[in-house]
Amino acid sequence: MSKLRNTLNVAIVGNPNSGKTTLFNILTGLHFKTGNFPGVTVDKKIGKFSIGKDVTIRLIDLPGTYSLHPNSPEEAVNLNYFIGKEERDSADVILYVADSTALDKQLLLLHQLLELELPIVLALNMSDTAKKYGVQIDINNFESTFGIRAVAVSARTGEGIETLKNTIVTVATHPTDRIKDHTSWYKPELEPLIEEVKRRVGIENSYLALLIAEHNNYVLNQWLKEEDRNSIRLLLAEAGYRPLSRQIEETMNRFKIIEPFVEQHVKQKFDHLDITGKMDSFLTHRFFGPVIFLIITFIMFQAVFSLAAIPMEWIDKGFVQIGFYLEQVLPEGNITKLFTEGILAGINGVLMFVPQIGIMFFFIVLLEESGYMARVVFMFDRVMRIFGMNGRSLVSLISSSACAIPAILSTRTIKNRKQRLITLFVAPFISCSARIPVYTMLLALVVPNVYIWKFIHLQGLAFFGLYIIGAGMALFIAFLMKWLIKKEERGYLMIQLPSYRMPHWRSVANEVKDKVSSFIWTAGRIILVISVLLWLAANTSTSGTLKGVERKYTTIAHQQGLDAKATQILVASKKLEHSFAGKFGKGIEPIIRPLGYDWKIGIALLTSFAAREVFVGTLSTIYSVEDESQHKGLRKKIQEAIDIKTGQKIFNRATTLSLLVFYILAMQCMSTLAVVKKETQTWIWPIIQFVVMTGLAYFFAWITYSFFK
Ligand code: GDP
Ligand code: MG
Repeated sequence: MSKLRNTLNVAIVGNPNSGKTTLFNILTGLHFKTGNFPGVTVDKKIGKFSIGKDVTIRLIDLPGTYSLHPNSPEEAVNLNYFIGKEERDSADVILYVADSTALDKQLLLLHQLLELELPIVLALNMSDTAKKYGVQIDINNFESTFGIRAVAVSARTGEGIETLKNTIVTVATHPTDRIKDHTSWYKPELEPLIEEVKRRVGIENSYLALLIAEHNNYVLNQWLKEEDRNSIRLLLAEAGYRPLSRQIEETMNRFKIIEPFVEQHVKQKFDHLDITGKMDSFLTHRFFGPVIFLIITFIMFQAVFSLAAIPMEWIDKGFVQIGFYLEQVLPEGNITKLFTEGILAGINGVLMFVPQIGIMFFFIVLLEESGYMARVVFMFDRVMRIFGMNGRSLVSLISSSACAIPAILSTRTIKNRKQRLITLFVAPFISCSARIPVYTMLLALVVPNVYIWKFIHLQGLAFFGLYIIGAGMALFIAFLMKWLIKKEERGYLMIQLPSYRMPHWRSVANEVKDKVSSFIWTAGRIILVISVLLWLAANTSTSGTLKGVERKYTTIAHQQGLDAKATQILVASKKLEHSFAGKFGKGIEPIIRPLGYDWKIGIALLTSFAAREVFVGTLSTIYSVEDESQHKGLRKKIQEAIDIKTGQKIFNRATTLSLLVFYILAMQCMSTLAVVKKETQTWIWPIIQFVVMTGLAYFFAWITYSFFK
């Protein structure tokens, strides 16, 4: 071990929120690859950087955990990593990251890691904040007491990073004497069990062997044969003790060492936890807490609407101008039309909603960064349990209001499998940003753009209502699933509330930028392709058909004495009706008639199954085709669309409300289904999800239409 290899493998370990990822990013300069840990769907980030000329570091970012007693597959990754045959041989140094403003709670995991025969470097992170709070840490004592080197760093300002790098190399070449304390966990009666595990797994470390035995459901599968696993379980039963009480005892013993150490060597001028505590007594108050949370979400939805209105108007008008201009400078013909009516209308349908989505993400990132989101988890844990979920589920559900995909991925942090399944099943009911464009457009048709009592924006309020309907349905289905799925593992919440901090504005800006641009690129690509295909489908048909339709209806218009404009509208709409798109829409019209939709909405519904936000783009393409002479904004066109047969507005109140209900409830996102399949490892759940959601959507849209008709 003392020989310096050219490449050192360094694992970053620490509690959640201690700044591991930020440190990882600053060390690797953001050059890394992500993959999955073997056997579990947990992100694995590996990056490389060099120190001096000779040493290359291969850095791995392990999932945050509070102790080596894993409670979820995600936390078990840490333990697996130290057992893992290939990985273990190559883990040369552990880089332990601790938040130096909350050291008393962050040293438990470190104290456990002392038992492993690996060199450890302690990064006392957030030294910038620590200075502000007047925290003083006597760094040398870590070496004399525990035999590890500590370095004060700030992953934010970059302070201490060079020293940290050098210390990693030093520790790898000259390991210090580890000072361990077996009394914290050692029980003589477990000796036979420990020896047996060591022999079967092929490891030498006794503490590790004990952890493997106790956590065999998360850990063993990967490394042991079935029979070996069983015999370990048998030995465990024979020893006749409960791992949980031993673990609690171990934890208390360790704190008996850690607490006096921190008390003696960490001095703090004034207690910032006091401020956090005072804020918490209000913000997580039994009554005020939930009320404040409701107010915050309410403000968020108000902002999404009122702040975004003006830039949205600019974008919509801007596109009309661009289209107008292009038609004048480009040669007349089908290619130009494809461009102005197909592509441009589609892009407008995406970009117009960027302000709203940006504001939404801004709020969510802000709440996470400031430390408030962790309180939300804590506050709503009990309530969420009524619905078969837990406090963490709420954060997944809230982030689902941006997009269901990251929300479903975030359910990995939910330990209990049943709670996790329920959460990822109902997450798509929460209205995501892709529904915002649809909601905005449809709401504008039925809800006036006014303020009540001068400050509540009525459309914003209605918008909030749509979210409530989706959330209500999510809870209702979750409640049903709680009774339907028979499987009881006890889940409990373990969370350390981070202290409140000012958000790092650059991180917030970056995060929002990333999320918005990924929305534009993922949604934009799909929308562009669909817009072009749709324009083609709306402008082509079996050979000769469209020419014939044009001749026939021009004649009819003449006979009826229609003026030029009316003639043109009649001809265009008849051509659309006989195009491929029209035939397609007509084909499904019988199915969607009961919901109040015509065949044109049918076309838009079908394209929505690729992604919901395509709906607005599709309608805009369809109505551009029909109404090409007028350069109106998209919303105006749709608002004024008339059903040729009845002479009534197509988007009347009943149809619009029914569509809104359909879009709240229907499962219309192929990417979400793909992610659910990936996370549950079976097609069963995405299929049930699709059938249940779309079935509910159809049913309630039908009720809504029948009621308002
Ligand atoms: P992880 O859960 O351990 O990966 O933690 P993150 O890297 O995601 O960081 C959690 C929070 O701490 C983020 O808001 C970071 O911006 C913040 N943070 C990380 N390192 C520092 C630091 O050195 N100083 C300060 N002030 N904040 C930091
Ligand atoms: Mg992280």
